[in-house]
Amino acid sequence: MTDDLVLVDQHCHGVVAGDLDRERFAGLLTESSISTNSFDSMLGLAVRRWCAPQLGLPAHCSVDDYLQRRAEWGWRRVSSRLLGAAGVRSWLVDTGLSTPDTPLTEPADFADIAGGEAFEVLRLESVAERVAADEVNVADFLDFVENEIRDAIEAGVVGLKSVVAYRTGLELPAEPPTDVEVAAAASAWLRWGGGRLDDPILLAWLVHLGARLSAELHVPLQLHTGFGDDDVRLHRADPALLGDFLHATKSTGATIALLHTWPFHRHAGYLAHVFPHVLVDVGLAVPYVGDRAGAVLAELLELAPFGSVCFSSDGYGLPELHYLGATLWRRALGRLIDEWIADDVMTAADGERLAVNFAAGNCCRAYGLTVPA
Ligand SMILES: [Zn+2]
Repeated sequence: MTDDLVLVDQHCHGVVAGDLDRERFAGLLTESSISTNSFDSMLGLAVRRWCAPQLGLPAHCSVDDYLQRRAEWGWRRVSSRLLGAAGVRSWLVDTGLSTPDTPLTEPADFADIAGGEAFEVLRLESVAERVAADEVNVADFLDFVENEIRDAIEAGVVGLKSVVAYRTGLELPAEPPTDVEVAAAASAWLRWGGGRLDDPILLAWLVHLGARLSAELHVPLQLHTGFGDDDVRLHRADPALLGDFLHATKSTGATIALLHTWPFHRHAGYLAHVFPHVLVDVGLAVPYVGDRAGAVLAELLELAPFGSVCFSSDGYGLPELHYLGATLWRRALGRLIDEWIADDVMTAADGERLAVNFAAGNCCRAYGLTVPA
């Protein structure tokens, strides 16, 4: 039932625009910043099982054979094969994670390689840090940040994203800080030359600004929650901490997308249950948990209303992650729906409707994209 589903990926990043040696490939196959044998994991097994045949190798081939084929083909051909095979029509690309050390493809180049269409999602903290780097005064800083976000949406950005979970955590106040508080915090931060934005008042201002613009301009505000690299303090990334913020934004017209969510996907499911303006996904977790993806998805669906669940891969750097995000999600959902139909939990028509909405329909409606026919 899910093999031919057209997917819309709510959240991913570009792929590394260059060839990778064994160490760099292994480094991108884990959320750890310390070099580990990342092949020896559920994700490593999934790469050998599912990605190898896409590169013309037998399933479960050795890591050496896999990396050798990758080197022979080059990053562009490998990316084109894996992204093309993911069955994704539209990719919503978070452009805030490209660094000089690890340059990622820009959305247009990514779309070219993948053979689909790509839309940009704008990271709020990156905007603030970029504006601060221009040595602006406080009054201009606040206006410039808002104007830059508005201009980007006008120019085609389809969503906003915050990584406040990585900075001060998700326990956001119900109300935005006052103008006086924001001006004082901005003044202190700018005096030190900006840099990484870690100030709790400025971050609260920024996320509330994102929610206000989400309501006004109809672009969802994505929040990183749960699992991520070791820069996150996991207990501060629990979406349950967003209770006050979600109460405050529930009737404003804003849409809040909780990304990743694992291991708090049940908390996220509950939040989507009580707050109709909340979307949820289990991107990132799906490729990492490999064969356990079905269990994670089933737990999310215990409470999450079916209209709130979106697909995302959170692929980053390696096209293997985009491909596995799609392939394992498709497989897990298909098995789950087949099981529910067999157990008379739902009809085949119910299963069909649920699958197409999770795959693309819910996301397209929230982000103003055309729903696949
Ligand atoms: Zn991401």
